[in-house]
Amino acid sequence: MSDTSHEVIIIGSGPAGLTAAVYAARGNLRPLLIEGAQAGGQLMITTDVDNFPGFSKGIQGPDLILEMKQQAQRFETDFLTGDVTSVDFSKRPFKVVVDEDKTYTAKSIIISAGARAMLLGLESETRLMGHGVSACATCDGFFFKDKVVYVIGGGDTAVEEAIFLTRFASKVILVHRRDILRASRILQEKAFETPKIEMLWNTVVTDILGGPSGPVEGILLKNVKTEEILEHKADGVFIAIGHTPNTALFQEWLELDDRGYIKTRPGSTETNIPGVFAAGDVQDPIYRQAVTAAGTGCMAAIDAERFLEGEGHT
Ligand code: NAP
Repeated sequence: MSDTSHEVIIIGSGPAGLTAAVYAARGNLRPLLIEGAQAGGQLMITTDVDNFPGFSKGIQGPDLILEMKQQAQRFETDFLTGDVTSVDFSKRPFKVVVDEDKTYTAKSIIISAGARAMLLGLESETRLMGHGVSACATCDGFFFKDKVVYVIGGGDTAVEEAIFLTRFASKVILVHRRDILRASRILQEKAFETPKIEMLWNTVVTDILGGPSGPVEGILLKNVKTEEILEHKADGVFIAIGHTPNTALFQEWLELDDRGYIKTRPGSTETNIPGVFAAGDVQDPIYRQAVTAAGTGCMAAIDAERFLEGEGHT
């Protein structure tokens, strides 16, 4: 059982939170890191990570998280598994409630709760989620062996998922609302060179077809230039249209931007509440990379340490 009173509590266990833990622990702050039910964040549903410095041959997302976690454990980070259900930042020590009934307090907080996949907002998408609709190719791709699947989106995630799905599916159709991909050039080139991938430009999804509880049988697609709507046979639909930050718990206390990201003072991880810091995808609408998340996690731990020193706590 963890102590309930801490110098610093870190909320979230992706690269930002785990890096903050390494730095805070090495700063002798004995951090408590709260990892939610989906510990490790988005890297846990990623396959090859080829752009994290230090891994010349690449590394699998879950292996990278495991390495980071073991590093944080080496320096006396206290890990707690549970979902943060509310926080009270009205006064210090700050309160963090886990699973509704366990309260922990800390003199400083680092929020690194990450972001999650956005959905299209169709009734059929919610109804058929897990029955042919998915937001994670690496989790569900295996179920689409020799099937026809659609991937929706034009960014790195969509293109990466489309390439990954060619391992299983007989055909992958990438549906993008414009005629230029947002994805990085290297991923685009790889997709264009992959024979199983077909592109559908200027196209949006108007409905996903299937029984009340699945499976997916088809998809209605509209060409935004001609307004023509056509029905296509589909076995699976992967939504990959971006991410939204996990900040609902904090909106009562912290200033957020118009897309819900926590606002931090430029060049630091300070929020509008002294002693509360934010790192990683919760505060980054621009870069959203594992390495930038780790970088801001490091910054948050140093900011917290200096804050506590300034308050005469350490
Ligand atoms: P993203 O870059 O925001 O791209 C989202 C894509 O979905 C865009 O192409 C967007 O279209 C489309 N979209 C958004 N809302 C839509 C809607 N309602 N209907 C149809 N299409 C919609 O998100 P992401 O691909 O998840 O990437 C997020 C960040 O992670 C990026 O910084 C990316 O570089 C990074 N990432 C990196 C890697 C890698 O380096 N290997 C892998 C994955 C992600 P428009 O283009 O028209 O806006």
